[in-house]
Amino acid sequence: MRILVTGGAGFIGSHLCERLLAEGHEVICLDNYFTGRKVNIAHLLDNYRFELIRHDVTLPIFLEVDQIYNLACPASPIHYQYNPVKTVKTSVMGAINMLGMAKRVGARILQASTSEVYGDPQVHPQPEEYFGNVNCIGPRSCYDEGKRVAETLFMDYHRQNGVDTRIVRIFNTYGPRMLENDGRVVSNFIVQALRGEELTVYGDGEQTRSFCYVDDLVEGLVRLMNTEAEDIQWPVNIGNPGEFTMNELADLVASTAGKEVSIKHLALPQDDPKQRKPDITRAKELLGWSPTIGLEEGLAKTVAYFAETIET
Ligand code: NAD
Ligand code: UDP
Repeated sequence: MRILVTGGAGFIGSHLCERLLAEGHEVICLDNYFTGRKVNIAHLLDNYRFELIRHDVTLPIFLEVDQIYNLACPASPIHYQYNPVKTVKTSVMGAINMLGMAKRVGARILQASTSEVYGDPQVHPQPEEYFGNVNCIGPRSCYDEGKRVAETLFMDYHRQNGVDTRIVRIFNTYGPRMLENDGRVVSNFIVQALRGEELTVYGDGEQTRSFCYVDDLVEGLVRLMNTEAEDIQWPVNIGNPGEFTMNELADLVASTAGKEVSIKHLALPQDDPKQRKPDITRAKELLGWSPTIGLEEGLAKTVAYFAETIET
């Protein structure tokens, strides 16, 4: 197949491009390099089945493809809050442009949505049926609401135009090729530990997250895209249900990196969700998917990547 990956030069997108090429597909990677980097896909450039396009998804583009993975959107709070209006445009206009392409050429299309659609959840763990608890006017809203509108568009293009759509709600994912200044907690802690700096724990560090290693996530994305299961246009959570406080994560990173660390507590950002853990029953039943890489193993691979790539 010929497959388009928007945001393909980013963290998750670059792993997905690699996987799809390994399966023998033609891959078109589209990116505006806001948070993506050419170095993430440099090793793919020699492959004649790989094509790279510098483009912004907020603008229309006409391509002929069989499948579209729509991943273009900054994912880290510091990056999506840098230009919040642009973040909304990327999610909303990006979804409209990619859905328009899917409709025109009859392609199947998958939207990278997020656990942030549950906001600061009052139901725990979060099943797909939960509507969420989201602030529509806060600093995280440009991302959360942008993704929620993208989901709305996907469902409406499906119901109104019969577009073959998929929505994945991705929970916190980590691994090699995250930016060292990404701002998300796993990369922050690892880079800080390797550099002998204090680990920045926001608030009291008792808030929880569930961390999925990138290879497990990519496996889930590919399975969701290619299944013929019934009602598959409804969202599917993909994440690792293991739940950790940020204090526990700090300890694990320190022991994996083999470093003595000290902790610096900083203010908790506004609207920071207190707890998060996916209910993955639907992914298990529809896709036969569950994560295979635990946090310790995944952290070891990620620490090894940063130890090689950053200046300490
Ligand atoms: P990332 O920032 O590394 O990748 C996003 C990519 O999209 C980058 O390469 C960036 O340059 C590109 N991009 C941004 N705006 C664009 C635009 N207007 N036009 C074209 N390209 C654009 O982030 P990631 O972690 O790889 O996330 C990929 C997708 O998965 C995003 O849609 C994100 O919202 C979603 N997601 C990620 C996580 C996670 O924990 N990593 C969790 C939930 C959802
Ligand atoms: N966090 C932290 N220190 C950091 C970066 C983040 O304690 O250096 C916390 C943050 O407040 C949140 C959790 O880690 O409670 C996960 O943050 P991240 O930005 O990685 O993801 P998200 O909040 O989008 O789930």
